[in-house]
Amino acid sequence: MRPFTYVRASDPAQAAALAVAEPDTTYLAGGTNLIDLMKLGVARPARLVDITELPFDRIQHRPDGGALVGATVRNADLAGDIGIRQRFPMLSEAVLAGASGQLRSAATTGGNLLQRTRCVYFQDITKPCNKRTPGAGCSAIEGHHRDLAVLGTSDSCVATHPSDMVVGLAALDAVVHVRRAGGAQAAIPLGAFYRLPGDTPDRETVLEGGDLITAVELPPPPPGAVMRYRKIRDRASYAFAVVSVAAVVAADADKRLRDVRIALGGVAPVPWRARRIERALVGQRPDEETLRAAGEDEFSSATPLPHNAFKIGLAVDVVSTTVLDLLEAV
Ligand SMILES: Cc1cc2nc3c(=O)[nH]c(=O)nc-3n(C[C@H](O)[C@H](O)[C@H](O)COP(=O)(O)OP(=O)(O)OC[C@H]3O[C@@H](n4cnc5c(N)ncnc54)[C@H](O)[C@@H]3O)c2cc1C
Ligand code: SF4
Repeated sequence: MRPFTYVRASDPAQAAALAVAEPDTTYLAGGTNLIDLMKLGVARPARLVDITELPFDRIQHRPDGGALVGATVRNADLAGDIGIRQRFPMLSEAVLAGASGQLRSAATTGGNLLQRTRCVYFQDITKPCNKRTPGAGCSAIEGHHRDLAVLGTSDSCVATHPSDMVVGLAALDAVVHVRRAGGAQAAIPLGAFYRLPGDTPDRETVLEGGDLITAVELPPPPPGAVMRYRKIRDRASYAFAVVSVAAVVAADADKRLRDVRIALGGVAPVPWRARRIERALVGQRPDEETLRAAGEDEFSSATPLPHNAFKIGLAVDVVSTTVLDLLEAV
């Protein structure tokens, strides 16, 4: 591991000033992803600025039904918060579907948003990887890609974003609050926060140097909404998603859907908002056939590789059963 210096920041301005003064600085939150990557030699910061003492460790519930989740709120505290469980139960389910109890007690909201891909070649510094070393090539396309993406990929990279939490946040129309290095504030809708790989897979978000995530805003869900997170994985726990779906639906008394929000995990380099499915379902009382057709349309732009093509049928099934289950609950 490269030697590094460690500073604990006492306020956001100091954290940003430290980050800008030394370009090789990385913020340290729970460290559950960053420290692993430093041990592997993938991340090589010269300085770590610990942000866990900053005043971003609260969840504020708003009278309109929305909430503001501070960036250093631990994943375990987010999942267990009574207001989150009552108003956004799907988000709680998504967080609890990830990692382990021990990891969730250390991991933070901001760190979960910025965790790196689990592509095995990204983590192995002896193998070419365009995300780790721009222009080096992609080992996964001809190699092990069974766990990787089928939507939104490029010839440069087919990695998936690994987070469960952000798939839930995507379906909730969350907004990421950022403090820019100069002190300006920005509110970035989650749908505009992540970048597709294109020919620059090393640039994963729209953040710039010194940007500090301060909070994630959850707008109030649609009136009468029901929601669910469902994750398909190789083991019952402690495994990343092969496919996951976060669904929020609201229906009229005759079960006609008036609001549908679906996000998919495990299939794309970003939390994938399934807009085609949403458009097809609004105003409908969907049955299995309608749902299957909408799902197949969503994946019509997919570019599967030999070992991950199975994800398409799996995702269509998971979306269908999840929406049908939610329709029972409305
Ligand atoms: C064995 C294992 C299994 C796991 N399984 C899952 C799983 O199934 N599902 C899942 O979703 N996750 C899983 N995880 C990932 C885990 O959720 C992440 O490691 C964790 O959420 C990262 O949060 P952290 O606070 O520890 O981030 P850190 O490791 O501290 O930081 C991660 C990155 O975010 C940056 N950062 C952190 N906070 C901020 C901020 N406020 N502003 C700007 N930059 C910031 C850091 O600089 C760093 O680049 C697993 C992890 C492990 C080790
Ligand atoms: S899929 Fe992306 S992360 Fe994986 S080896 Fe290729 S470029 Fe690297």
